[in-house]
Amino acid sequence: MIIILKNNPDKEQLEGLTSWLESQGISVHPTVGASQTVLGLVGDTRRIDVDLISALDFVDSVKRVQEPFKDANRKFHPEDTVIKVGNTQVGGGTMTVMAGPCSVESEEQLLTIARAVKASGATMLRGGAFKPRSSPYSFQGMKIEGIRLLLKAKEETGLPIVSEIMDASQLPLFDNVDVLQVGARNMQNFSLLKALGQTRKPILLKRGLCATYEEWLMSAEYILAGGNPNVILCERGIRTYETYTRNTLDIACVPVLRQLTHLPIVLDPSHAAGKASLIPDMACAAIAAGADGLEIEVHHDPAHARSDGPQALVPEVFDKLMRKLTYIKDAVDRADREIR
Ligand code: PEP
Ligand code: MN
Repeated sequence: MIIILKNNPDKEQLEGLTSWLESQGISVHPTVGASQTVLGLVGDTRRIDVDLISALDFVDSVKRVQEPFKDANRKFHPEDTVIKVGNTQVGGGTMTVMAGPCSVESEEQLLTIARAVKASGATMLRGGAFKPRSSPYSFQGMKIEGIRLLLKAKEETGLPIVSEIMDASQLPLFDNVDVLQVGARNMQNFSLLKALGQTRKPILLKRGLCATYEEWLMSAEYILAGGNPNVILCERGIRTYETYTRNTLDIACVPVLRQLTHLPIVLDPSHAAGKASLIPDMACAAIAAGADGLEIEVHHDPAHARSDGPQALVPEVFDKLMRKLTYIKDAVDRADREIR
């Protein structure tokens, strides 16, 4: 249930209402926006009398929220969430580009790629240290040494770093990692999500291979309900009957999620396409659709990459893509401003 307040509500009356609701076992989540203040109520609201609350003179309207996700719901939080990561931000119309190798492989590999993506304008460096591989015989990542190299690349380039956490027990290793990625295969690892809810780290929550929007948002809800408001959603392609591409990029998620949630939305065309030649056009489409950012795999020597080589862009292609994206983002922003 949400309660939309009139402008400048009386503070004492508001506190009175809040403590009465809390005494009914309901938790109250206020959002003070530029144009309106909304109280989101979480808990069993079935016995709350809508007419009684609507009659209060500082209340504008009261609505029941049907969706099972509450904290992630745009009705609870009408304005876009903007998440601060190092000296950059994600959400509310940013063009965040998280670029780097699938896996951290060596100091030379990571620094070469980090310098290149930074020079092309990437805003964050990605790199997997713990790799969730479909086969137990495939490269599993450099683990703690991979994190150490990412921190070194962060120090040199100043780029915030994004890396995948596979298990809550790894949390202490991620102290200085800026964004913790939850991989598609872990989207419903509820014990991991609960542990991340206890931190205040920005979390890049990838969509599960077969997850509906509601399932994905309920996973975000686990993190938000724990008290961590810093969730970024990442679409990375879903399983369909098509096998030409590795997965199918669901661009419709951008307008759908814009309506359903206030959380930032990032698209990963690399894992969706699986083929480098398809990725630039898909990245452009994602920005044209209004995504807040992209996650893109880049490798200077894809033929020798230890994971996901076929989908890695070489730095020269990534650089051209970044230039093209800047034009597209400017055009989209101008159109949004001028055509209403
Ligand atoms: C990755 O980012 O390298 C990765 C494994 O992604 P996903 O979880 O989307 O497959
Ligand atoms: Mn990968």
